Amino acid sequence: MGSQDEMPPIHVFMVSFPGQGHVNPLLRLGKRLATKGSLVTFSTPESYGALMKKANKNLSDEPTRYGSGMIRFQFIDDAWDYSKPEGANLGLYMQHLELVGKKLLPQMIEDNEKQGRPVSCFINNPFIPWVSDVAETLGIPSAVLWVQSAASFSCYYHYLNKLAPFPTGTNPELQVQLPGMPLLKHDEIPSFLHPASPYTMLKNAILGQFEKLSTPFCILMDTFQELELELVDHLSKICPIKTIGPLFKHPKLIPPDEDEDIRGDLLTADSGIMQWLDSKSSSSVVYISFGSIVILKQEQVDELAYGLLNSGVNFLWVIKEPSTGTGFLPVKLPDGFLDKAGDKAKIVQWCAQEQVLAHPSLACFLTHCGWNSTMEAISIGTPIIAFPQWGDQVLDAKYLVDVFNVGIQLCRGENENRIIPREEVEKCVREAMSGAKAVEMKQNALKWKKAAEDAVAEGGSSQQNLQAFIDEIVTKCTTDEKLKKTSLQ
Ligand code: UDP
Repeated sequence: MGSQDEMPPIHVFMVSFPGQGHVNPLLRLGKRLATKGSLVTFSTPESYGALMKKANKNLSDEPTRYGSGMIRFQFIDDAWDYSKPEGANLGLYMQHLELVGKKLLPQMIEDNEKQGRPVSCFINNPFIPWVSDVAETLGIPSAVLWVQSAASFSCYYHYLNKLAPFPTGTNPELQVQLPGMPLLKHDEIPSFLHPASPYTMLKNAILGQFEKLSTPFCILMDTFQELELELVDHLSKICPIKTIGPLFKHPKLIPPDEDEDIRGDLLTADSGIMQWLDSKSSSSVVYISFGSIVILKQEQVDELAYGLLNSGVNFLWVIKEPSTGTGFLPVKLPDGFLDKAGDKAKIVQWCAQEQVLAHPSLACFLTHCGWNSTMEAISIGTPIIAFPQWGDQVLDAKYLVDVFNVGIQLCRGENENRIIPREEVEKCVREAMSGAKAVEMKQNALKWKKAAEDAVAEGGSSQQNLQAFIDEIVTKCTTDEKLKKTSLQ
């Protein structure tokens, strides 16, 4: 806990959309800013924050020392009851959150000011663009943390501003060519932008941030310059972007024990995972996870299970219950499957993914290619079997396979509308585990690991960009203070 006297000079107020793929990168950024001496308040709706607190005992309302700065958690009282019949309707919830958020956030900022913690800067992630409005009304500088790739950002940017032709109802198979990017097939653009996509609400939520792109003074990105070089160079000329990733890979954590670190997971990792990995030989395990939202169809789970079994590898598979409001159905493994797989299989509900990916027994990652999982795998040097479903995952898979050259493609996304049979799964797993392709992917993965480490090291591109961002906030605060003093004289 910190007294007023020792309160850090900058107070960054973060607002996160309630979702694991949003909370993780924003909280990682929060920890980086705290490490560098800021006070960080991490905020998300109470209905989500309460679950975070339940799973992580060390999330305190009080400023808690973190590096040379501090971090605290203050949730927005969204008063949302998921057990009500409309509780699972994401569209209704988003409207509700905007209404209560616009009312409560200014009060929270005022209370912070009264308590001697005036807010210097807002940072929000996509899906809640109204935070930029609140910041503008209060006259507080704001920034956005874009939690997908620069390539995905570019697709949404060009689409909204009509700067390039995209597939339409009459031309659904149109290929998309954007500056600094490879030619994209119609099913490789973020799927929400495809005319056939049923997820209009999610498309609009993302585009909402692009409509307000002139408000934030900076758009931070959890990628690194060297990874998307030509594109980052191009985007820098049209938007105030700063690449600061991989946020996951930051110089040594404080506190030093990773188990005691501040995390925002909703679920607690199952026990015994590390011991099971320890018992396996080097590069012998396939790790399978589809992130925090996607749940495959039961038929696909059956085929995947037998494909893995028939390939003879060890595998660690995250199979979780569907999250509320996603509409996915729970799945189970085929009857008798676990008996057949024996100790070659470990099935869990949740794991500490970064620790799993870094384990020496890991050979490759069969992933849905969410951007967080993508960045974690790239910066740890793990080859990929790409199994994207929707959103930016299809684009990430394209990059992992064709641009970064660290992956092989097993599925093209839910638009493909087919069940990938066990024979294809087996073939792909074997190819990723041994032979020329496996060697090539591992070599490239290690090259990206080194590049990621260099980017966040002292003097690296991401480290310099993060410091420049902090310096910018300080300058804005000092200028504001001077202006206030002048107007009082
Ligand atoms: N994750 C984890 N344990 C698991 C599964 C996922 O810690 O068992 C984390 C993973 O490390 C990543 C996040 O959950 O940081 C998922 O984000 P991603 O963007 O990959 O996918 P999303 O959940 O948004 O689809």
